[in-house]
Amino acid sequence: MSKRILVTGGAGFLGSHLCERLLAAGNEVICLDNFFTGRRHNVERLLDRHDFEVIRHDICTGVSLEVDEVYHLACPASPIHYQRNPVQTIRTCVQGTLNVLDMAREAASTRVLIASTSEVYGDPLTHPQKETYWGNVNPIGPRACYDEGKRCAEALAVSYARQYGIEVRIARIFNTYGPRMLENDGRVVSNFISQCLRGNPMTIFGDGKQTRSFCYVDDLVAGLVKLMASDEDEPINLGNPGEFTMLELAEQVRALTGASSEIVHKTLPTDDPLRRKPDITRAIERLGWEPKVPLELGLQKTIADFRARIAAERDATASL
Ligand code: NAD
Ligand code: UDP
Repeated sequence: MSKRILVTGGAGFLGSHLCERLLAAGNEVICLDNFFTGRRHNVERLLDRHDFEVIRHDICTGVSLEVDEVYHLACPASPIHYQRNPVQTIRTCVQGTLNVLDMAREAASTRVLIASTSEVYGDPLTHPQKETYWGNVNPIGPRACYDEGKRCAEALAVSYARQYGIEVRIARIFNTYGPRMLENDGRVVSNFISQCLRGNPMTIFGDGKQTRSFCYVDDLVAGLVKLMASDEDEPINLGNPGEFTMLELAEQVRALTGASSEIVHKTLPTDDPLRRKPDITRAIERLGWEPKVPLELGLQKTIADFRARIAAERDATASL
């Protein structure tokens, strides 16, 4: 059945892919975004549709919309962006989530999915990370505005569920990549691809032995939709359990782009987690979800997108 769905942060990387998928399934979609890291270009091809609408709005200010579901994604996700204005980041996580939950409370029948993060586990002391792990987060470090903000968003969601009976879903999203990532977002996948395609050195922070698990965006979005449709009110990890060191990732990107960029080592940022890999047993058992796209294929698609964007930028510069 067609639903009316609000996607906060809908012009961002994940949000724009999610809007497309929800529209393709026959829903009406409202994309709300303040364009802090989102881009109009991400949703441009959807603007002519009668079942799609964009609202420019900061979720830190209250909103009142009658919708069946809210995917609450509004929040910068990459460390350089969420650390640029840490107070705004924590405000978005806390006040923004309060506003979304208050809206759902007024409407009574709105279901809310909160985009949480593997960062709630901090620099984890257990491996792989299960949802039952409470985390190892530095509450005063440079990542705290995001990590503690998201932990508070989870606490708000479960408190509203307990106190007011609101239906909430909590997705703990692990590193996700794919087309439309911002080239300058500082994340490792976008940095490596862009450095290789532009013939620049590849920057590895620290010794490069730290690990991450990378999920392709289509898989992640499929997981979000399944979680929203489920009865699961406990947090669920969504990510790809394949675990790679940053050195391994660098080698793969270099091989797939055909680049000969050298590797340069830079200082490891403070509180950078050493290892990260989701235990997705809960998602498999309760949602029947697991990722399908292997890293190599996902990287090929992402590289093709970056190549096209860089070529278009060069054409535009050449025609000036
Ligand atoms: P993104 O930065 O591309 O998208 C976030 C969107 O939210 C942007 O369009 C931005 O303009 C918008 N936004 C930020 N603050 C806002 C505000 N106050 N009001 C309205 N809009 C606002 O990031 P993304 O990668 O698409 O991440 C989406 C969500 O998923 C975030 O909540 C993030 O924490 C979560 N997440 C992402 C990842 C990942 O690897 N991409 C991992 C874990 C969690
Ligand atoms: N990283 C790196 N080189 C870069 C960017 C990031 O080695 O140019 C490292 C970073 O220190 C971290 C990992 O890659 O250990 C993933 O970083 P990202 O910012 O993508 O995600 P997060 O740290 O939030 O998981």
